[in-house]
Amino acid sequence: MFATRFAPSPTGYLHRGHAFSALTASEAARAAGGRFVLRIEDIDATRCRPEFEAAIFEDLAWLGLAWETPVRRQSEHLDDYQAALSRLEADGLLYRCFRTRKEVAAAIASAPHGATEVFRGAPLPADEEARRLAAGEPFAWRLSLDAASRKLGGFGGLTFTDEGEGVVSARPELGGDVVLARKDVGVAYHLAVTVDDALQGITHVIRGRDLFEATHVQRLLQALLGLPEPTYRHHRLLTGPDGRRFAKRDRAETLRSLRERGMSAADLRKELGFD
Ligand code: GLU
Repeated sequence: MFATRFAPSPTGYLHRGHAFSALTASEAARAAGGRFVLRIEDIDATRCRPEFEAAIFEDLAWLGLAWETPVRRQSEHLDDYQAALSRLEADGLLYRCFRTRKEVAAAIASAPHGATEVFRGAPLPADEEARRLAAGEPFAWRLSLDAASRKLGGFGGLTFTDEGEGVVSARPELGGDVVLARKDVGVAYHLAVTVDDALQGITHVIRGRDLFEATHVQRLLQALLGLPEPTYRHHRLLTGPDGRRFAKRDRAETLRSLRERGMSAADLRKELGFD
């Protein structure tokens, strides 16, 4: 059955861009007679706040959306991400990375010919790793593109289907050796999203163009974890009068401030093309 989702992170109030994304997904589910799922992506405990989560429910209800319940909150499902991580680790696809952000940036900058803007690394020699672990140094788990490529016999056969672009060759190398488990929270965005899309039976991932590159990495994770492959739709990003995309920093454009200024949900839906 057709199923799509809107997956905001409660790190700020929703703005027009979120409304467009949520309406696009919800409308697609309605048109297909399918499911519309709302997922709260709150693994980053330092940035997510309960009042932003409450505002998400309030703002989406104001917009006239209805979603399945119970709503999945990622922070309550860390075991699911841990299980996926253990499987990838058992398959030899991960390595521990002890580097600080600064060290990662320095490693990228010193890559031969400055050829890449992403990080590629390798496991530390066993004795150094053992020493750091014994010293209690924190580490992240990164996906090894070299190991992933060996396992799949290269990425040549890896594709995803985008409703706008057709069949796209997946190029996970665009993301480098992504972090799948952060030092602080033990999981990271790409892994949580990929696991959840599969667990929630999402057949159509509908989200903004800003996440197009993420799809390359997430497609690889699906292949490595043996998960089903959804169809993708990356919708256009709304821009303000200054031509810039709406972002959480644009406080005046949050749905709550539009509402406070007297805009009705019907007006906003109409402005966004959802009459
Ligand atoms: N939680 C992500 C965000 O708020 C979206 C994830 C997704 O749609 O895949 O940007």
